[in-house]
Amino acid sequence: MTGHVPYLNSRLQSHAGTIFAEMSALAAKTGSINLGQGFPDVDGPDLIKRAAIRAIEDGHNQYPPGNGIIELRAAIAAHQKRFYGLDFDPESEVLVTAGATEAIAACLLGLCEIGDEVVMFEPYYDAYAACTAMAGAQRRVVALNAPDWSFEPLALEDAISDRTRLILVNTPHNPTGKVFSLAELEVIADVCRRHDLIAVTDEVYEHLVYESAHVSLATLPGMAERTITISSAAKTFSFTGWKVGWVCAIPELITAVRAAKQYLTYVNGAPFQYAIAEGLNECDQYVVEEARILRHKRDRLAQGLDAAGFRVLDSHGTFFLTTDISALSEEDPYTFCRALPERCGLVAIPSSVFYDDEVAGRHLVRWMFSKRSEVLEEAITRLARL
Ligand code: PMP
Ligand code: GLN
Repeated sequence: MTGHVPYLNSRLQSHAGTIFAEMSALAAKTGSINLGQGFPDVDGPDLIKRAAIRAIEDGHNQYPPGNGIIELRAAIAAHQKRFYGLDFDPESEVLVTAGATEAIAACLLGLCEIGDEVVMFEPYYDAYAACTAMAGAQRRVVALNAPDWSFEPLALEDAISDRTRLILVNTPHNPTGKVFSLAELEVIADVCRRHDLIAVTDEVYEHLVYESAHVSLATLPGMAERTITISSAAKTFSFTGWKVGWVCAIPELITAVRAAKQYLTYVNGAPFQYAIAEGLNECDQYVVEEARILRHKRDRLAQGLDAAGFRVLDSHGTFFLTTDISALSEEDPYTFCRALPERCGLVAIPSSVFYDDEVAGRHLVRWMFSKRSEVLEEAITRLARL
């Protein structure tokens, strides 16, 4: 959305500002309800907050170990075993990162040669494109086709070349809310095995699923040794500002990712690591309950959007809903979202920014529903003004 940015290198010219920062600033400036950037307006469990305070008071305030504290790595390994039956050795197969964002960056910077290709599904989370560019790699996109966000197995096959380094998968998927089915993941796994590719799977919304279960790609035959699984405490525990994420993979892959990670941040917030370890060990019930509440909020916002004249596409996971705005406006989604605060005091995200294909993303706008019920109801009242 910016023109040429002086001093910025050419790789990052088209990634100069994130849409989330821009739209959150717009919400703050106009006093609008922010259904744009993905963060809840209620914090996670008190138990986890208290654990962070205790960790500070107990003196866990210096650099933690490079891999993350062992208590957190053990809790992550136990989580992977409990939910997916996956075995990871906390000593050598788990790495704590500064959110999933750093994990994504470290995977791309650590694994890609200049000129390598990274295959990702479109629409794609913006950091995938930016981090691929930072790594000097090229993105190759495979379309997820609205309204059901299915993809053509042949299109995936066609995206693979002898320069392909890895396939990036995001399930549950931001921005669409798609939850990849087992059959779809089998198609991806088959391609990875046949072409000897690494899969990087971003599962930050793993617990925010409303109909079907989340399937972790690493559980498929032959995938444990070639999959890097990324997740984060941000969405699971509603602490997006804490930036505690992680990577699970075989030791050789962890070593490669850590090589990049150690020069990005080296480590991240020691006390938060203790707190999230406690959260992972103690808060399964919170996670289940949150998904139940969010499902209800999804349905409520979908009703409100539908009543306001939007075409609402199905979302089965994450805390996002996608709408087609073409019945309401001929504007492109970016212009539409820029004008939304003035029209009705709301902020949303133009999904067109997640596309290379200008036609495919032309009418799509993303809305975030993890807000308190009264805020959501007020947003629905405002939608009716459109
Ligand atoms: N991946 C996806 C798909 C996301 O939506 C986000 C935003 N939460 C991230 C990664 C980044 O996660 P974190 O805040 O843990 O860096
Ligand atoms: N993942 C969040 C979203 O999609 C935003 C996080 C960020 O601003 N980087 O809204």
